[in-house]
Amino acid sequence: MKVLFIASVERSGSTILQNVLAQSESVFAAGEVRNLWDRGLGDNRPCGCGTPIRECSVWTSVLREAFGGVDLVDARQMARLRDRARARHVPTLRLPFGKTLVKHRLGEYPEALVGVYRSIASVSGCEVVLDTSKSPLLLPFLVGHASFELYVIHLIRDPRGVEYSFQKRKVSGHKRLKDHSTAKGALHWILMNKAIEDVLGRVDCMSMTLRYEDFTERPRECSDIILNWMGVESALPWTNGVSLHMTPTHTIVGSPHRFNTGNVAIRKDEKWRTLLPRENASRAWRIAGSFAKRYGYQES
Ligand SMILES: [Zn+2]
Repeated sequence: MKVLFIASVERSGSTILQNVLAQSESVFAAGEVRNLWDRGLGDNRPCGCGTPIRECSVWTSVLREAFGGVDLVDARQMARLRDRARARHVPTLRLPFGKTLVKHRLGEYPEALVGVYRSIASVSGCEVVLDTSKSPLLLPFLVGHASFELYVIHLIRDPRGVEYSFQKRKVSGHKRLKDHSTAKGALHWILMNKAIEDVLGRVDCMSMTLRYEDFTERPRECSDIILNWMGVESALPWTNGVSLHMTPTHTIVGSPHRFNTGNVAIRKDEKWRTLLPRENASRAWRIAGSFAKRYGYQES
């Protein structure tokens, strides 16, 4: 069994990457597993298959195997433990005994998460479990686990593209973003990517860095590279270089793109170049630009 974890800033295109890889018969795309407890089980949001999580036959089987049944999951406790450690705690890992401290805070959470991964593999029969949870903090507690190999993709998107996506959601009235500002977003972009780099520098696992822009420009080539890297042989149902036939997934939580099915073309979204106000684009670049250059991004 292999676990493929996508670590990234939000709004970096992880759902599109997930949707493509999910079309391999060897990959089970689980979505943002970190949100299984509250947004998944608590709010009973729709699974990628359209059925509420608590009624989805795949997730009920997974949770029965991992916890004895959907109603036996102490979802509130799991969410509480998960929230005890966030990406901002990554610097703690550098301190003497820092890892022990974070592990203590997380309690039974890492083992419960591993139990969910194992059950997904067992129920689905898939070789790879794909988790798009993004936050890197749990990675040190997953690496070296005897029951699976860990692969991590550090997915990066131009900070101005991320900012445009956040602004669109803020304008549409997304509650969580009412205090969002370009400066906050750009700082978060730096801190999160730095945290992912820090963690990946400390854990012994297979990892690669992938830019959203490269993936969406050459989706077929990039997904082939990823599947080969993990030793997965099954081919994806591409109908040409950029389109593939998508069937429903069983992803929990994520962008609405996860419901896309049928013949779907993967296209690079760079609307920020024309639609993000120049002032916001300049501010995002002034703050995050020098860090973004290390990933090959240019000012214009
Ligand atoms: Zn489902």
